[in-house]
Amino acid sequence: MRGFELYDAGTVKEAVDLLQKHGSRTVKVLGGGSDLVGGVMKDWVQGKGMPLPEVLIDLTTIKDLATIKLDGGSTTIGAVVTLQEIVDNDELKKRLPLLTQAAESVASPLIRNFGTLGGNVNQRPRCWFFRGEDFNCYKKGGDFCYAVTGDNRYHAIIGGELCYIVHPSDTSVALLALNAKAKIAGVGGDRDVAFDNYFIGPREDVLRENVLKPNEFMTHVEIPNPASGTKFGWTKLKDRQVYDFALISVAAAFTVDGGTWKDGRVTLGGVAPVPYRAKVVEDALKGKNIKDTIKTAAAQIRTVARPMSVNAYKVDLAQGLIERTIMEALGN
Ligand SMILES: Cc1cc2nc3c(=O)[nH]c(=O)nc-3n(C[C@H](O)[C@H](O)[C@H](O)COP(=O)(O)OP(=O)(O)OC[C@H]3O[C@@H](n4cnc5c(N)ncnc54)[C@H](O)[C@@H]3O)c2cc1C
Ligand code: SF4
Repeated sequence: MRGFELYDAGTVKEAVDLLQKHGSRTVKVLGGGSDLVGGVMKDWVQGKGMPLPEVLIDLTTIKDLATIKLDGGSTTIGAVVTLQEIVDNDELKKRLPLLTQAAESVASPLIRNFGTLGGNVNQRPRCWFFRGEDFNCYKKGGDFCYAVTGDNRYHAIIGGELCYIVHPSDTSVALLALNAKAKIAGVGGDRDVAFDNYFIGPREDVLRENVLKPNEFMTHVEIPNPASGTKFGWTKLKDRQVYDFALISVAAAFTVDGGTWKDGRVTLGGVAPVPYRAKVVEDALKGKNIKDTIKTAAAQIRTVARPMSVNAYKVDLAQGLIERTIMEALGN
């Protein structure tokens, strides 16, 4: 591994000042380090558009970012709260069981103990060409996508252009279904961005997966309280039954009137370069009896899917898991 300078920030302001001070160098903020230090930097994942960091700013030393606050209207979770702290919070489990389940499905107990929410949402992709030292693909600043002609069994079936990664974060799929927003601090000031607009695909910028500028970081995630009686569903299908990333995951959060879908969201992981909101499915269910409509609604995912050479199996999986997740949430 290459050497780097490490700074412990005590406050958000200190972290912002450090970002400004070292702005002319390659700087990254650090959560638990399970991916940045233990993966990207250890494995020399780099290219001309993705130099290895020279400076790391540790956010886990900022106490203000280490709390979970549940108040009357919303829940606010600091970026350095660990995934295990999310899993263990009983109030959170009652209010947002979907997030608890998604956090619990991440990796292994060891990684959940030090992996942070901010690190999980902002982790880099897992495409095996991206992670391989010998492949200088688009995402590392090169001029080719090796997944197009290579083994693309785990790649995107929706929204891939130039680059066909699937976004790796389980918690982001749940947070998108829960209509969360990211609170961001940076050299240019603070801003809030809804998860609907937080993630960006390769057409917008192939070198990034979200709207954060190099001199910004996520401080918190804020989730509005779901309407009373909201139904929640979470399913994650993995290739291996030990810890693994999602082949397909589905999150659902919706309200019903009798058996009729009133309002809600259906989101998918493992299918697209961003956590994917399946509006085609939501639209097909809106105002309809769920039991009567679920099969045709789930099949709508086929209308937006463009599988690659060896991953068409994911389209069948997505359709089946959408149906299963919603029916289980409904209690059937
Ligand atoms: C073996 C293994 C299995 C895994 N399985 C899964 C899985 O099944 N599902 C899943 O979702 N994940 C999985 N992961 C990923 C794991 O969850 C992440 O590595 C972890 O959550 C990242 O958290 P961290 O705090 O260690 O991040 P770090 O490694 O510290 O950071 C990761 C990235 O996020 C950036 N970052 C960190 N905090 C912030 C912030 N506050 N604002 C902006 N950027 C930030 C860093 O700069 C870095 O680029 C797995 C990882 C491993 C090693
Ligand atoms: S899918 Fe993206 S990350 Fe993977 S090889 Fe293609 S350009 Fe690189």
